[in-house]
Amino acid sequence: MQLSFEFFPPRTDQGKLNLKQVRQELSAIKPHYFSTTFGAGGTTQEATLETVLDIQANDGVSAAPHLSCIDSEKSKILALLSQYKAAGINRIVALRGDIPSGVRDIGDFHYASELVAFIRHEFNDHFHIEVAAYPEMHPQAKNMNTDIQHFANKMKAGANSAITQYFYNVDAYLRFVDDVQKLGIDAPITPGIMPITNHDQLLRFSNMCGAEIPRWVEKRLAVFGDDLESLSAFGLEVVDNLCDQLKSQGVENFHFYTMNRSQPSLTLAKNLL
Ligand code: FAD
Repeated sequence: MQLSFEFFPPRTDQGKLNLKQVRQELSAIKPHYFSTTFGAGGTTQEATLETVLDIQANDGVSAAPHLSCIDSEKSKILALLSQYKAAGINRIVALRGDIPSGVRDIGDFHYASELVAFIRHEFNDHFHIEVAAYPEMHPQAKNMNTDIQHFANKMKAGANSAITQYFYNVDAYLRFVDDVQKLGIDAPITPGIMPITNHDQLLRFSNMCGAEIPRWVEKRLAVFGDDLESLSAFGLEVVDNLCDQLKSQGVENFHFYTMNRSQPSLTLAKNLL
């Protein structure tokens, strides 16, 4: 079983200290890699580089930077990837990123598939390339069929494997993997697991990224109010059950969206192990 954990790059000194502690705690279970988001949620891209280099140098765990290509140029992407390669990094999570509102000229890349092809062309097989997958459809996709076709094209452009957007409907994931296999893609598609610890935040994220919270889960979360301890206990039960179901369906790799907290990802991961 391979487990990976995702962080966002902290901007404050306290955030950096906190993440160091989180990384140390998670390192104990020998993760496959630690990934760090790029420019998401208002974080700066320099902070990603700093976090990634720190992980690679100090954690004894491989660092995997996320890299989004929208609103960027080939020369900038090439320089950053060369820096990563020189630091011994050999795994990249390649993304398009969200199109910033009001931006007309979106740069040298339009889709993640173009970034994947570019990395392969420039670096041959040096990087293991992960891409994003959406079992419940990317929110801007025309329909599920075209989204799956675009995903397959992204894999065929040279990606090695994929990490999904988080989901709470196991069937959506299983059906997605089946459909993609029918298009000749056998590469691993690792479920992205989002622990549930905060009702409002989860609603906000899910609205943005198109992940469905099952009605019965949403209704139950709504009654906890300020009682975050009870909410987290319920959330842990729901997500632990999700992981169990995936494992019983033969899933071997899991990717955790930690939100820079060791708990509850660590508990979920230990239960899987
Ligand atoms: P793409 O694969 O390019 O797809 C985007 C949309 O375009 C889809 O609707 C697709 O169907 C469509 N499409 C693709 N190809 C074509 C084509 N040829 N013609 C027409 N339509 C096409 N965002 C960040 O900013 N930073 C991060 O670090 C980050 N990390 C993420 C990690 C994971 C695991 C996931 C699941 C998402 C992450 N995101 C991140 C969010 C991501 O950037 C957004 O979801 C973004 O809107 C799409 O990126 P993508 O790489 O999936 O794009």
